[in-house]
Amino acid sequence: MTKLNKKYREVEKILLQDREGLDLRWYRLRKGKSTSKKDANKFILGAIIDYQIPAQQAWDNSERLADEILGDPDNIWEEINKYSHKRWMGKFKQFRLHRFPKAHERIWKIGKRILEKYNGDTRNIWKDHTINNTLSNLLNLGMGKQISSMVIGALIDSHILNGKGDVKADLHVRRVLGRVFRAAEYLAREVDQVISLTHSIHKNNPWLLDRGLFLVGKNFCFSKRPLCTECKFKKVCKFYFKNK
Ligand code: SF4
Repeated sequence: MTKLNKKYREVEKILLQDREGLDLRWYRLRKGKSTSKKDANKFILGAIIDYQIPAQQAWDNSERLADEILGDPDNIWEEINKYSHKRWMGKFKQFRLHRFPKAHERIWKIGKRILEKYNGDTRNIWKDHTINNTLSNLLNLGMGKQISSMVIGALIDSHILNGKGDVKADLHVRRVLGRVFRAAEYLAREVDQVISLTHSIHKNNPWLLDRGLFLVGKNFCFSKRPLCTECKFKKVCKFYFKNK
């Protein structure tokens, strides 16, 4: 076994062991139980907002939009699309859903497509579909590759879909894998390298690495002054050996 292969196996072991004790519940998706239209719509709304802002803030903002601003409807998309595009964009500052106007606009645009294509019920995106078809449906809605991967993973974790998926290569995942394997985080433009690396670590189902990487990134592997001495990767981390 080459040195690199040995390292893949070590990282795989750490992450899979770690996963056994993790809480894998997803917002509004109930493991192994049927999901209502309202809950499925709320989950997808949160996923749409969950990029380029902290995850918790995104899910909190989606809940505020659905419950407080729109009045907790079954069909969130219908309520959003009661706003004209111009009026919706005029609510950017008042609603405070995302830091970027483009992301605020994305909610309206994807919502319109969900209304037109899935009759306002996001369960139709995955119902009776394979993982590959579901992924295509999400991409066609304009969800983007990383968010679509996260949605697929959440559906796998919740036993709604069966099969394998890819990690969401967000900042945490890119930073941890980059520091462990090359002593420097992967940049956003290097997402393909990150995905390929996760395939080398656990090709059977790279998605299973996602939560462990995310949590190490969020709780230990800070941009400045990472808590390496408390981190489970310290024995295999190139960044740690280089800087200790
Ligand atoms: S050992 Fe340090 S640099 Fe390496 S993954 Fe852990 S926190 Fe990040």
